[in-house]
Amino acid sequence: MKPEERYGKLVHSAENAAKLGLFEEAYKRYLKAAESAISLNRMQEAYVWYFLASIYKCNSSIDDEKYLLSSLYNLYETYNKHPVDKVTVYMLGGAFGEFPAKRFVNEAIGLLALNNAKLTNMGLEEIVENLDKATKAFMEIGNDYLFYSKYLSIINKRVTANYAALISEANKAYLLGEYYSDIDPTKAVEHYMIASRAYRTARRMDIYRDVIKLIQGVRVTKKCWICGREIQGEKHFVYLDAKLGPYFEKLIEKNQDKHSIHGNKIVVCNVCYSAIDNIVQEEQRKLRQLIDRLLQLERTVYYMKKVLDAIQVGGTARNAFGGGY
Ligand SMILES: [Zn+2]
Repeated sequence: MKPEERYGKLVHSAENAAKLGLFEEAYKRYLKAAESAISLNRMQEAYVWYFLASIYKCNSSIDDEKYLLSSLYNLYETYNKHPVDKVTVYMLGGAFGEFPAKRFVNEAIGLLALNNAKLTNMGLEEIVENLDKATKAFMEIGNDYLFYSKYLSIINKRVTANYAALISEANKAYLLGEYYSDIDPTKAVEHYMIASRAYRTARRMDIYRDVIKLIQGVRVTKKCWICGREIQGEKHFVYLDAKLGPYFEKLIEKNQDKHSIHGNKIVVCNVCYSAIDNIVQEEQRKLRQLIDRLLQLERTVYYMKKVLDAIQVGGTARNAFGGGY
């Protein structure tokens, strides 16, 4: 068989495998077709076959999340090495058509970045960077359904790229809200508001309701009973049990100072609370030391008593301890 003829057959058999949904086989055959094209110096064709191989590798790895992620990365790298324009592909669920290669690449970038953003060893800046990258990539695809979102736990269902972009934006705003709630409650509210709107639009009502609660918590303003400072945000103060009595109740009523009490509790900012807590910890430490010493003393008394008993029955101190030395 002439090389040209052999090459034509390889391409044909690769396409057949893809048409039948035998994606693993299609992946292998397109790789062979690409190598054959290179040997015939048909470089542009070779790049298209490499790219198709990388798509079918993704299609064949949907049952294994880790494998799918590495296949998506492979697709992205294949395109980066040798960009191609358009490809005609047979997709999962029998879909068939011509697509811009960039559409697949954007899906890979978006899904990989969204997945990266959930890695626990990443700092906030890096996570935000990844989520921005995901949003941008998904928005370039627009309203088309994603091919692989259903097979990745970060999304887990068939969604449009616009929806995935919305979720990336919402996740970013949520994380920034969380971050600022520790240092700047007003900024935290701004980010949480963006997150709540995005989750509502995405119909993620479960998270939406959580965010609304967080906003209410961050907005709460109280006054510390001890230092008198105004404090914003639920996580920056605690309620401590206290005895108020009629005099103080009247006084608070008169001064309209209700921000520093909550029923029978007083509001104490975290700083004042930490000072009280330190004193308590120190006292507890002293108490523990005292108890240790008492226990030691008790043991000594116990042995002394045994020694005395032994002497009284006519033995020696040695017998009292078993005479082993
Ligand atoms: Zn205080």
